[in-house]
Amino acid sequence: MTRTISILGATGSIGASTLDLIRRDREKWQVVALTANCQAAELARLALEFGAKIAVVADESCLPELRDALSDSGIEAAGGAGALIEAVSRPADMTVAAIVGCAGLAPTMAAIEQGRTVALANKEALVSAGDVMMSAVARHGTTLLPMDSEHNAIFQCLAGNDPAQVRVITLTASGGPFRDWTLEQLSTATPAQAVKHPNWDMGAKISVDSATMFNKGLELIEAHHLFPVGLDRMRIIVHPQSIIHSMVEYRDGSTLAQLGPSDMRVPIASCLAWPSRMDTPCEPLDLAAIGELTFRAPDEVRFPATRLARQTAEAGGAMPAVFNAANEVAVAAFLSGKLPFTRIAVEVEKLMDRFAPPAPASLADVIAVDAEARALATQLLEPA
Ligand code: NAD
Ligand code: MG
Repeated sequence: MTRTISILGATGSIGASTLDLIRRDREKWQVVALTANCQAAELARLALEFGAKIAVVADESCLPELRDALSDSGIEAAGGAGALIEAVSRPADMTVAAIVGCAGLAPTMAAIEQGRTVALANKEALVSAGDVMMSAVARHGTTLLPMDSEHNAIFQCLAGNDPAQVRVITLTASGGPFRDWTLEQLSTATPAQAVKHPNWDMGAKISVDSATMFNKGLELIEAHHLFPVGLDRMRIIVHPQSIIHSMVEYRDGSTLAQLGPSDMRVPIASCLAWPSRMDTPCEPLDLAAIGELTFRAPDEVRFPATRLARQTAEAGGAMPAVFNAANEVAVAAFLSGKLPFTRIAVEVEKLMDRFAPPAPASLADVIAVDAEARALATQLLEPA
């Protein structure tokens, strides 16, 4: 049976991996909407290849280029925030939420409000909206499938088991490209070095997050919403090989882990085929060739992000949206050469100390907190 699918952030790293799997199983899928921020030429190419019904650029200034590229194709071209929401609201069996950053929040919420299956890669949206998003999931009867590899691993390890029997959930972290660097070396880290991850091939923002460990911090908050066993039952462990993607320990002492190659197509396939399974072209796991799986405790002196994330999750309310917005602003400043690597965490903590808005009760509230936090974070970055 054919299934319909929309992909938000189709031109990104997760979007490309998702489309790669769909390409190998073309007759199974009918693509409804594909979206991007701009990248009109690439988006048009994908829309033509996959026979999408509509292609949308969030940045309206890119619409003329998209229109040109899709003229006479019969594929609708649209642009702007409203068009994005309209396209996401069109019926599809599954929506892949793979926009980067809090920019993906409103379209992801629109997909959730359709009450269908949403495969979530866009962790910043869940971190920022937290309870607002999870209550929309419950209200609309949406099936939310975690696509982030750690959360997908936990989801698989929990399957068929009672979450009340869980003793500890352990998120694994690669430690990023700088895991063995001293603080002094870290202060000289460049954007080019930060985006070169040893195990994973990802977009620029998440690569920097992985280097600072903010990715694991965001993932801790993400896990706290997806698997509410309590923060005191959530741990982080550095596992440089990225073979074990996370683990669940039960009260009897049994620990279930999900293992796989460091290839996002594995968790993506798990979402696409859920509750069944599908073939992927990923290299099978060769544990004899890997030889050793090693583990160490995170170092929160060199990498304060996970400590800040735990404080953020404990505070709850608007703090996760503030934490995320401050990090997005700081990462953008680092990537454009305006902020040293080690200042990212300092800037986030600075904003957390200075800005404590009331807990958001609606999507509009979260968007307002995000906007205000960004403005303040940007101000704090300006040289005095
Ligand atoms: P990416 O930068 O490669 O792609 C991002 C996509 O979002 C692109 O299609 C881009 O056009 C679109 N986009 C960017 N800004 C936008 C805006 N303002 N409005 C609308 N669309 C916009 O990012 P990625 O690495 O694919 O990551 C996407 C999400 O998935 C992130 O939240 C990331 O944390 C998460 N994730 C990624 C990986 C990975 O391996 N890449 C793994 C786990 C989770
Ligand atoms: Mg992850």
